[in-house]
Amino acid sequence: MADAVPDSRLVGDRSLRVGVIGAGMAGILAVIKLREAGITDIVCFEKADRVGGTWRENTYPGIGCDVPSHVYSYSFAPNPDFTRMFSPGHEIQAYLEQVAVDHGVVPHLRLGDEVVAATYDRGVWRLETARGHRADFDVVIAASGVLHHPRMPEIDGLDEFEGAMFHSARWDHDVPIDGRRVGVIGTGSTAVQITGALVDRVEHLSLFQRTPQWIMPMDNKLFSDDQRATFRSEPHRLRELRDFLESAFAENFADAVVDAKSERLERIEETCRANLYEHVTDTELRRRLEPDYRAACKRLVVSADFYDAIQKPNAELVTAAISRIERRGIRTDSGRLHELDVIVLATGFEVDRFMRPTVINGLDGRTLEEAWADGPTAYLSVSIPEFPNLFMLNGPNGPVGNFSLIQVAELQMDYILQLVHRLQAGLSTEIHATEAAMHEHEARRIEAAQATVWVTGCNSWYLDARGVPAAWPWPFRRFREVMAKPDLDAYHH
Ligand code: NAP
Repeated sequence: MADAVPDSRLVGDRSLRVGVIGAGMAGILAVIKLREAGITDIVCFEKADRVGGTWRENTYPGIGCDVPSHVYSYSFAPNPDFTRMFSPGHEIQAYLEQVAVDHGVVPHLRLGDEVVAATYDRGVWRLETARGHRADFDVVIAASGVLHHPRMPEIDGLDEFEGAMFHSARWDHDVPIDGRRVGVIGTGSTAVQITGALVDRVEHLSLFQRTPQWIMPMDNKLFSDDQRATFRSEPHRLRELRDFLESAFAENFADAVVDAKSERLERIEETCRANLYEHVTDTELRRRLEPDYRAACKRLVVSADFYDAIQKPNAELVTAAISRIERRGIRTDSGRLHELDVIVLATGFEVDRFMRPTVINGLDGRTLEEAWADGPTAYLSVSIPEFPNLFMLNGPNGPVGNFSLIQVAELQMDYILQLVHRLQAGLSTEIHATEAAMHEHEARRIEAAQATVWVTGCNSWYLDARGVPAAWPWPFRRFREVMAKPDLDAYHH
């Protein structure tokens, strides 16, 4: 890519140059929507050699999406071929790759080239990649994901283990699993899926639980050949199913978790408790599996098979705290050494990184590290004051957790496009949220978060360093309303 000549004037008679960072679900979406809007001068940078983001990176056994398939897909690209109500990861990866082909994303991709720096210079974003390329853009869309940087646990002796050890998002498929002794650390959505998938393959599975989880039951129905044929021949059926699932989710879950006093939340709790009590009859095991906090306080885990899996004769729930990792396994504070061949660290992600480690410099040399010194924040998750013409998909404090992040990103992208249109039409040259708008939004968000279930007495990745949930604390319909049209008073434009 040649160094472009800087052009600080954004004029209405030429297409904007847009750089998209990341070719996961959100980056693919950004390219498609920009093209639909007539903007074709787009480069989508992806550090890996394939599109797919989280679905490319996470290949652990049992990986699937616990958001229904027909909600966790683009509204403009329904997929009649999903085989189940909840898709396995490889189907989502294949779907994303196909959408990228079908919707003309591929020619815009620059794979295997990580953006390491982005500097705003008088109307131009200068991007620099790890391979030494430089390119200039009028607009940058950061679509770099949320659950992206693996979090390694702080456990003594991590380097001492002589078997194989890896993070769940870095699964080493060269390591044999069948017939071996495997330890899984963690009880989040990932560990629960791994447990269900591994238990019948391994000699012994030890699940190291620091905190128990409420488990929402799921019925992962197969779509029959006839159903899928109907979805193909009568696409409105698929749309109806999607609409139904979306509104059921909003009413029964999304609106419940933001109101800790709601009856709907009580119903979620009852369902989870009944699931535990029906499936786990051994009272001692049940006691150890029962959380002492409210359901959905942590990101709710959804599983069809976890309780069956953990009760199998070769499975063991270890609730003694881990004291250290040693050459031959994991020692708990009871003094017992759990001898293992493989350790899986299902210990979650650094959730406050967003575009970082890319070095981002905004107006007057203001760095993103400075802007985010007290934690990542953005006006409506989309725009950061002093970082003009830079927009984020699935940025800080948006709807996360059990939501379809595809649905969230689509609403955000439609909103962002309205701002990009202003640039394209020459109505604005620089658009970024005002400090006042961002602070006002943050103050309201933090206040509203006090009514959510996320602050009712558990520790979770939703909570930021101050203990404030880094999430959208209002009903989902409000998110839809706010994303419908930017309030230009909130922007320098
Ligand atoms: P997570 O929810 O952050 O869970 C990490 C687990 O590791 C927790 O159980 C945590 O215990 C444990 N842990 C961390 N450090 C530990 C230590 N030093 N010693 C012992 N235990 C330790 O991570 P995740 O399961 O990977 O899930 C992250 C998110 O990814 C999910 O919440 C979800 O949003 C998404 N996800 C979605 C799906 C899906 O189906 N859609 C599937 C997988 C993941 P504590 O609870 O005590 O902190």
